[in-house]
Amino acid sequence: MAESRSNRAAVQATNDDASASKLSCVKKGYIKDDYVQLFVRRAIRRSPIINRGYFARWAALRKLLLQFLDSVATSDQTQTKKQILSLGAGFDTMYFQLKDEGKAPHLYVELDFKEVTRKKATVIENSSQLRDKIGANASISIEQGHVLSDHYKLLPVDLRDIPTLSDVISFANMDPSLPTFIIAECVLIYLEPDSSCAIVNWASKTFSTSVFFLYEQIHPDDAFGQQMIRNLESRGCALLSIYATPTLLAKEKLFLDNGWQRAVAWDMLKVYGSFVDTQEKRRIERLELFDEFEEWHMMQEHYCVTYAMNDAMGLFGELGFPIEAKTTSSSPSYHLEE
Ligand code: SAH
Repeated sequence: MAESRSNRAAVQATNDDASASKLSCVKKGYIKDDYVQLFVRRAIRRSPIINRGYFARWAALRKLLLQFLDSVATSDQTQTKKQILSLGAGFDTMYFQLKDEGKAPHLYVELDFKEVTRKKATVIENSSQLRDKIGANASISIEQGHVLSDHYKLLPVDLRDIPTLSDVISFANMDPSLPTFIIAECVLIYLEPDSSCAIVNWASKTFSTSVFFLYEQIHPDDAFGQQMIRNLESRGCALLSIYATPTLLAKEKLFLDNGWQRAVAWDMLKVYGSFVDTQEKRRIERLELFDEFEEWHMMQEHYCVTYAMNDAMGLFGELGFPIEAKTTSSSPSYHLEE
C-alpha cells in the first residue's frame, strides 16, 4: 500500500537531507548562504558528485528566480510588487539570503507540514540573525507553527488539502493578481498523482501571472531509475507521482493539461550544460577533484527542472531557458530548379 511505502515522517526527513547537502556545498564554497548552518545539527561532508548536483539544482532555481524578480512589463517597463510561494519549503533559506542581497520580493510565503514549520519557527525564534531579517513586529508561534511578518510568512498546511491551501494563501495576504513565483522543489513527486495534479491546477487557476518551478526525479524505468526508487522506498519515501510523469514530455503535459499556457522541461544534464552560468561552472569545477563523469551523467538525467507560466501581465517574455539552436543539417531549405 502507498501508506507503507510512503510515510509522513520519512518524507519530512528528506528536508534534513536537503539542508545537510546545502550546508556541505556552502562549506566547500559552491554556494553562498549564511543561514543554512542554523538549521543543520551536524554538518556532514558530501561527495563531489552530490555537491555538484546540489549546486546545479540551486543555481537553476536561483537563476530563474532572479529572472522573475527582474522582469518588467514590456509595455511600460514598470516594476510591480512580486510574490514567491514555496510549497514544501522545508528549511529553505532563500528568503533570508535574498533579503541580505536587497532582492527579497514584496511577499515571501513558505508552506510545509506543521511538524516542519514548528521546527523552522523554533529556529527563527532562537536566532537574532534570522529575527533581524523578518523585522521586530513579526509574530512567531511555535505552538501554531507559524511566523507572520510583513514580508515573510511561514504557515502549516497539508498541500493535499486544496480548500485549506486556498484559505492559507488568503490568510497570508497573497494577492492572486500579483506576479507570483511558485517553488516546488522535491515535493510533488512524493504525493499521489491526483494531488500533484490538483495543486498544479489550483496554482494556475489562482495566479494569473505566475511561474511554476518544479524540480524532481524522472525516468523510473531504467536500471538507475529503479535503484533510485528502491533506495527512497526503503526509507519510506516512495516517489508516488513518478510513474504518472516519467518523462520530460509528461512533466510538460502535467502543466499544459492543467491550465498553464507554456511549459518547458529539461533534464539536469542539459540545465547544467546550457543554462547554469559558464563562469560559475568554471569556478565550481575547480573546487574539488571530480572524476565520476559516467555516474554524473546518469544521475543528472534522472532529475529535471520544469517551469510553466501564465502571463496575463506580459512580464515573462525574457524568462526561461535559452532558445535552442536548431541542430538540423545546414542544407538550404530551397532547391534551385535545374
Ligand atoms: N523544498 C525544500 C525541501 C524539500 S524536502 C528543498 O528543496 O530544500 C520535501 C518537503 O516537502 C518536506 O519538508 C516535507 O515536509 C514537505 N511535504 C511533503 N509532502 C507535503 C504535504 N503533503 N504538505 C506539506 N508539505 C509537504
